[in-house]
Amino acid sequence: MPDSFDISSLVRKNILELNPYSSARNEFSGSASVFLDANENPFNTPLNRYPDPGQKELKQAIARLRGQAVENLFLGNGSDEGIDLLFRVLCEPGKDNVITVDPTYGMYAVCAKINDVERRSVMLTEDFSLNASAVLEAVDQNTKMIFLCSPNNPTANSLEMEAILKIIDSVNCMVVVDEAYIDFSSSKGVLSLLSEKKNLVVLQTLSKAWGLAGIRLGMLFAHSDLVRFLSAVKYPYNINALTLKEALSALREPKRAELWVSTILEEREGMVSDLVSMDIILEVKPSDANFLLVRVEDPGALYTFLMKQGIIIRDRSSVPLCEGCLRITVGSAEENRSLIDTLRTYRSS
Ligand SMILES: *Cc1c(COP(=O)(O)O)cnc(C)c1O
Repeated sequence: MPDSFDISSLVRKNILELNPYSSARNEFSGSASVFLDANENPFNTPLNRYPDPGQKELKQAIARLRGQAVENLFLGNGSDEGIDLLFRVLCEPGKDNVITVDPTYGMYAVCAKINDVERRSVMLTEDFSLNASAVLEAVDQNTKMIFLCSPNNPTANSLEMEAILKIIDSVNCMVVVDEAYIDFSSSKGVLSLLSEKKNLVVLQTLSKAWGLAGIRLGMLFAHSDLVRFLSAVKYPYNINALTLKEALSALREPKRAELWVSTILEEREGMVSDLVSMDIILEVKPSDANFLLVRVEDPGALYTFLMKQGIIIRDRSSVPLCEGCLRITVGSAEENRSLIDTLRTYRSS
């Protein structure tokens, strides 16, 4: 990426020209004693009021926690909103393309399809590592984004930092690094590079380590120019009042999430040693996340057996490079014990 790199050169013309919707809460956001500007109901406080469209208080809390500036942060209804908005802001349907490194999180492909954007798939190597040259070979002048998921779902490993950096430094498009599982990882991730890499986008979420998948809060860190375009395109009140409140309260207690993470990591190590000792388990892939990818003789049969015992895991055996593999989330000590005890009663037929 040259020094002259300008994000607006990647943005669709209709978005450059967009005059965003301006809500009542946009036009006046200070304090007052009487609010008669938004056609709200005066009863049922506080939920009668529209939430802050700029999510100022929550953004300040997250920015502080992550050591970033508020203008580099976009909040979405899950990471999925950020992913979809990136397509809508950057990719001209029927013309532009994106690159995914597979196997990976399915949402990139779904959003590409919905937005009628070509997706070029580059495979990870057999040992799930990132081949930077193969990615760079797939890039052309219509490539707008490269998605890198680290730690990667479903392979559970982190991608090599050196390869990630090589890609960021070699291209003229955005590189989106999805760090949904970063809190479980031994790698510290790429967020600290944001200020020096204009074409870097980092996705994080409250859905995993923070235990808040139900409130739908995704964080997207990027250059302030890109954050401005995303904010102009989002629904005005994309983060609802209940989510703002729950997220703020969780962020006041970061130690609680840290404790969950260390408990889950201990549980993961226990599960790994239990699983590798079983002859039905052929391989447990190294994990840098809160789930394990395990290879077995007959994944379909094992999946069905567990399901009949009320234990649901994910069959990933039809995914290229994951042949024979099941994905198992690390649960509570009781849940993991129940999984292991049940597996011990399994005899492959
Ligand atoms: C779980 C997950 C997410 C989280 O998505 P949300 O919409 O924030 O819940 C994002 N990326 C990956 C790779 C995931 O596995």
